[in-house]
Amino acid sequence: MSQWPEWLPLNSGLRPLFPYGAPQVPAEAVLNTNENPFPISAALAKAIASRVEIVATNLNRYPERDATTLRAGLAAFINSLSQSAVTVDNIWAANGSNEIIQSLFLAFGEKGAIGFTPSYSMHPLIARVTQTGWIDGQRRADFSLDIALAKEEIAQANPALTFITTPNNPTGSSITIAEIAELAQVVPGLLVVDEAYAEFSDEISAVTLITQYPNVVVIRTMSKAFSFAGARLGYLVADKAVIDSLFLVRLPYHLSALTQAAAEVALEYRDELLGNVAALIKNREWVESELKKLHLSVIPSKANFLLFSGFDIPAPILWKSLLDAGVLIRDVGLSGYLRVTIGTEADNKLFIQALTKIIADRESTKK
Ligand SMILES: *Cc1c(COP(=O)(O)O)cnc(C)c1O
Repeated sequence: MSQWPEWLPLNSGLRPLFPYGAPQVPAEAVLNTNENPFPISAALAKAIASRVEIVATNLNRYPERDATTLRAGLAAFINSLSQSAVTVDNIWAANGSNEIIQSLFLAFGEKGAIGFTPSYSMHPLIARVTQTGWIDGQRRADFSLDIALAKEEIAQANPALTFITTPNNPTGSSITIAEIAELAQVVPGLLVVDEAYAEFSDEISAVTLITQYPNVVVIRTMSKAFSFAGARLGYLVADKAVIDSLFLVRLPYHLSALTQAAAEVALEYRDELLGNVAALIKNREWVESELKKLHLSVIPSKANFLLFSGFDIPAPILWKSLLDAGVLIRDVGLSGYLRVTIGTEADNKLFIQALTKIIADRESTKK
């Protein structure tokens, strides 16, 4: 059974698929896509507008194709966070890290990829769209990564790309730099470390491994800690040979002059933008303790979200009850679990109040 008309020559691999669709519905507290709840400051918004005004006078011309200024800025940013010494030649920038992931599959996907489930659902989905073979590796029952088992599965799959997400989405759990190095020594192709939430974590970034292990490639994004999801800016830190390969698969002028300008200005305000990270970590600790007071289980998280379980209501029903109360969180399709993004204090209070009431109402109907 297919939703597609017979005459449409849609690729067979795409026929059973549905478009990515985290619900974008209005809610009082939007806690479903791990965005930063704090908007950029008025000063930064103004600085972006002024830069865009200048760039706009030149929009009759194609943008700077290699985004050299922006990539140099990203290199400096990474070096300041990780005491690394990467240069513009080690950075690739694109329209969100999703485009980075797509480019990796286009350039390196021929011999397939492996990831460890549950993890970021876009990895296998983009693999499928690019006709890259994908293997679902296993995690332990508590969703932590079993490195010994992962090594066995990698050896068996012999993939070109091994995906590790740390801190992992949707669980929030992370692995250590020593464990990443252990995997880098055994993967047959590239070890792709998706660090979308790295700024929230106290683990050492895998960018520090690239000099020793040139097969380590690290995906970062401005969408989460940086409060910049709407601008669409993701980037890759890798050996020069990896970056050079991506020039083969990128579309010409893929990164708009407006995007480049906005991201360059945002990097100039990085201290202000990352200033919210500490507050979000504190808020995460508060939400975690409140969830535990409700006798729920929470996976320890080093990101800006929590995966929780232990409620005796089916997850889709609890999700809908919360939405009816004005709180949009995420049903990630794991039976018995829901994921909540950490918001402002007001968002988090609304979430905990709504959840407390739903659970109490449920208890009283059971009596
Ligand atoms: C949110 C997220 C991304 C970010 O995607 P963008 O396209 O940069 O917005 C990448 N990887 C993971 C694991 C994520 O959760």
